[in-house]
Amino acid sequence: MSKFWNTKTRLIKPYVPGEQPKDRKYIKLNTNESPYPPSPKVVEAIKNAANGDLRLYPDPVCEDLRRCIAAYFGLSQEEVFVGNGSDEILAFSFAAFFEPGETILFPDVTYSFYPVYAELFGLTFKEVALDDAFSVPVEKFMVKNGGIVIANPNAPTGKFLPVEEIEKLVVHNNKLGKVVIVDEAYIDFGGESAAGLVKEHSNMLVVQTLSKSRALAGLRVGFALGASDLIAGLYRIQSSINSYTLDRLALAGAIAAFSDESYFQQIRRKVIKTRERVVRELEADGFFIIPSQANFIFMSHPRIQAQEMFRILREKGVLVRYFNKPRVENFLRVSIGSDEEMDAFLSVLKEIMKG
Ligand code: PMP
Repeated sequence: MSKFWNTKTRLIKPYVPGEQPKDRKYIKLNTNESPYPPSPKVVEAIKNAANGDLRLYPDPVCEDLRRCIAAYFGLSQEEVFVGNGSDEILAFSFAAFFEPGETILFPDVTYSFYPVYAELFGLTFKEVALDDAFSVPVEKFMVKNGGIVIANPNAPTGKFLPVEEIEKLVVHNNKLGKVVIVDEAYIDFGGESAAGLVKEHSNMLVVQTLSKSRALAGLRVGFALGASDLIAGLYRIQSSINSYTLDRLALAGAIAAFSDESYFQQIRRKVIKTRERVVRELEADGFFIIPSQANFIFMSHPRIQAQEMFRILREKGVLVRYFNKPRVENFLRVSIGSDEEMDAFLSVLKEIMKG
């Protein structure tokens, strides 16, 4: 606490990302990063962009990258926004589309950045309880609201909500004149994207990232797809904060990522295959796992406390994520690593179970 902090700074409870420890080498299954490197084409493009042009500012409206993403999704450049990670785009969206005094809805168990953005921008929100199977109770969202935010697949559960259900929310909110943000950070690991509905619904913003399925968490690139006036709204907010959110290297790398479709398909399929194998093995050992369409699983054991498993795994050099929060305090979120990493994780669990 400093006497120089204003009231907002004193009161805000910032989001805490998964740790990136430097004290020893860990098997990192705690931040949903890709276990695989990005496409070699990305690395080459970034190296090529590391030249004298770095003296110049990058394109403030990122036309080349937006054109490339637009072509990939069959949209126009005006229907694409790009930002410094999807976190930044989510923050801009809260600032652009939600009105103080109206109530934003999101699930009680979801990405814990949403309440932080709401608090930061002085917005009111209500957390709608997931049902007992950790599914989004769509009908409970179909009430008066100031906007809806849904992570799909949800985090940290990994559970996917069918696109028809998302569409019900979008249609409902269109009648209210309110936006639905669909955060698809994990969509490439088995879910079906709502991106195809952008043309039909003027009030839906689909947000995705290159951090997970394209193995570029370190580059910080996310994008949003939506009607051109939603995108223009995001640019009004961005241009009121920072003209250049994506640097020249990030722009070059991101464009290259979209040019290597076969590499993208290969690494996302590998993650899915490893996830399915790990789930089978854990279930055989008596673990409960919420069905996951993400690059992580959310698991618990009927006998062994999650917090205790977290502690022993960490001691043995395996980092996973534990959330000490109501409803999920007996779960661990485990990112899907390489097959070797997951074998190491499974063998520590076997030791724990032996007692
Ligand atoms: N949405 C969800 C649900 C996430 O889990 C994450 C990763 N923490 C993000 C958005 C943000 O990802 P990034 O800023 O790396 O694009």
